[in-house]
Amino acid sequence: MLIDSHCHLEKFLKRGELDAVLERAEAAGVHRMITVGTSLKDWQPYFDLAAQFPGRIDWTVGIHPCSVDETWEDMVKVIPSYFATDPMPVALGEIGLDHFHLPKYPDEAAELKAMQALAFRVQLSIAYQLGCPVIIHSRNAFNECVQLIDESGVDWNKVIFHCFSEGPESMRVLIDRGGWASFTGIVTYKSAESVRAAMQLQGLDRLILETDAPYLTPEPHRGKGNEPAFVRYTARRCAEVFGLDFELLAARTTQNAERFFQLNP
Ligand SMILES: [Zn+2]
Ligand SMILES: [Zn+2]
Repeated sequence: MLIDSHCHLEKFLKRGELDAVLERAEAAGVHRMITVGTSLKDWQPYFDLAAQFPGRIDWTVGIHPCSVDETWEDMVKVIPSYFATDPMPVALGEIGLDHFHLPKYPDEAAELKAMQALAFRVQLSIAYQLGCPVIIHSRNAFNECVQLIDESGVDWNKVIFHCFSEGPESMRVLIDRGGWASFTGIVTYKSAESVRAAMQLQGLDRLILETDAPYLTPEPHRGKGNEPAFVRYTARRCAEVFGLDFELLAARTTQNAERFFQLNP
């Protein structure tokens, strides 16, 4: 059985496709998934899903760097209250820095970067107080993210860089601190040699897989929509990379995800 440790179910929910998506996931051996919050808009729907599907859907709250706008301070205020709910979010995230999707005018870009950094800092301090796992989104901002996490005092053993798309050198930085990385369908792409090298460097003891659906569809479906069932293709490629039987690799990645996110049985 596999776990999709990071997906966004909002689109499927809106289109009334969720039942079909869950059915296909189950048929593909993906029994459990974590639907990851990105802004105030998806937190409540994800709580509802987790309440409706215990043991199958877990959820998180966090302000994605691409959701950071002038309303972020209002959003951030309600985050702690969600950690008093049942079912509780399994992590704070995804939070971080995205220096890829920025406005083209330098002044506006600088302003947004500063706002993202502040929202990231404040959310890290909430995670520090809660002592919960943290999901990091980092795009073109690996070193900046590492620095802010270092400054926050958050326990690196509770930090996971999702959709890891850096090379072995950056992985070394995470390993030295005790941090984690999870991998998407990118590892199935031909050109992703250095990402696969980073994955091998982290090793099987910490290998965690995700789809980041509806984005980043793995081969052989690249270019089409992504969904939790497709974490199977990523697992298949990882089994090749690690030279391991598929079922064994699936079991290992599931145990790792359960351990990191402290998932209830
Ligand atoms: Zn992300
Ligand atoms: Zn995501």
